[in-house]
Amino acid sequence: MLIVMKPSATAHEIDAVVNVVQAIGLRPHPMPGATRTAIGITGNEGPVDGRRFENLPGVAEVIRVTKPYKLITLDLRPEKTIVRTGDGTIGGSELAIIAGPCAIENREQAFAVARAVQQSGARFFRGGVWKPRTSPYTFQGLGEKAWEIMADIRQAFGLKIVTEAVDESNIDLIEEHGDIIQIGARSMQNFSLLKKTGRSKLPVLLKRGMAATLEEWLLAAEYIMAEGNYNVILCERGVRTFAQHTRNTLDLAAVPAIRRISHLPVIVDPSHGTGTAYMVTPLARAGVAVGADGLMVEVHNHPELALSDGAQALTPSEYAQLVAPTISCSISASLDVNFSSSETTRSRWMKLQTWRRSTSAFRPDRARRAKRASAKKSSCDSGPRFRSWASVSDINASPKRTAERWSALPDSCMGKHP
Ligand code: PEP
Ligand code: MN
Repeated sequence: MLIVMKPSATAHEIDAVVNVVQAIGLRPHPMPGATRTAIGITGNEGPVDGRRFENLPGVAEVIRVTKPYKLITLDLRPEKTIVRTGDGTIGGSELAIIAGPCAIENREQAFAVARAVQQSGARFFRGGVWKPRTSPYTFQGLGEKAWEIMADIRQAFGLKIVTEAVDESNIDLIEEHGDIIQIGARSMQNFSLLKKTGRSKLPVLLKRGMAATLEEWLLAAEYIMAEGNYNVILCERGVRTFAQHTRNTLDLAAVPAIRRISHLPVIVDPSHGTGTAYMVTPLARAGVAVGADGLMVEVHNHPELALSDGAQALTPSEYAQLVAPTISCSISASLDVNFSSSETTRSRWMKLQTWRRSTSAFRPDRARRAKRASAKKSSCDSGPRFRSWASVSDINASPKRTAERWSALPDSCMGKHP
């Protein structure tokens, strides 16, 4: 059940509805939106009679939810969720890059990779402290010894720390030293672990299970949210299929499919999604092109010596070559998405400036190189998304000309959000 409040509903009226939900033994989940608040109800095992809420002051409508999930849906929250941790965001205007080694192996390795991650402009450092391994005889992670290294990386580079909880006892330590709890593919249906992360104050990055349907994955997110933690990020990391040319099959169609159902941010992991380093960059770009809010990429300073997942790790220089153009491309793609046909050239130009400033990885010299490499034409026939190279580089080259060019573009050129 979903109770949609009127845009004019007061805080007092919202509280009154919340109190009635609690009084009948159910759990209210108020979700304030840009124009109105919706209150999701969980805890009921059968249908709830919604008529008792209909006449309460401030209530616009009561919607029976027929889908198995409630809190992840756009019905509850039509605006996208932006997960924030310090100055890092996932789901907002900036493409979130989470990068680092599969596992923290030693100080030298972790620092070399963290330096490359920071230099790329990314804000999140990933690295396994505990590793869920298929074989009990392979490297299981440094365990608690890795925290000292992680704490120093967080301090030295200002990166946010993302690491996987393989069991419930890990969560307290991640809360103490980390910033985002990762739930791995193998744990996607560990329901007690999901519930415990649902009671955490940290955001949860929930990977898709390797044999999970979209519905099962979204219900796993629902487990976390039903406990009160609404900061969930979904991560598509590939599912197991008959394909033998990749470790997993990266299901990029999941990204627009989720967009249509849920307000939660979705990121793509092309490293586990392919298992092979040479495929990581093209699939990362494809992930951005289909609308992912971010990427999770494995990086190692010596992939050939890695204790886990070396075959899919990028070297720091391969990683740098992936990130810079991908971020610039995503800025432009988002510009296309966000411009409305009624906007004036001036307001478009202001938006371009804001976008440029918001991306620390943006470098004019890279843009100039990209401009030389890109086709000169900027008309519709190159497709609105991939007009990006020309338009991003033009921002630096000649603001005036860019503004003129934008105003000359027909409205049909403006991309549509997936
Ligand atoms: C990982 O991120 O290193 C990992 C083990 O991922 P997954 O759970 O997707 O296999
Ligand atoms: Mn890995």
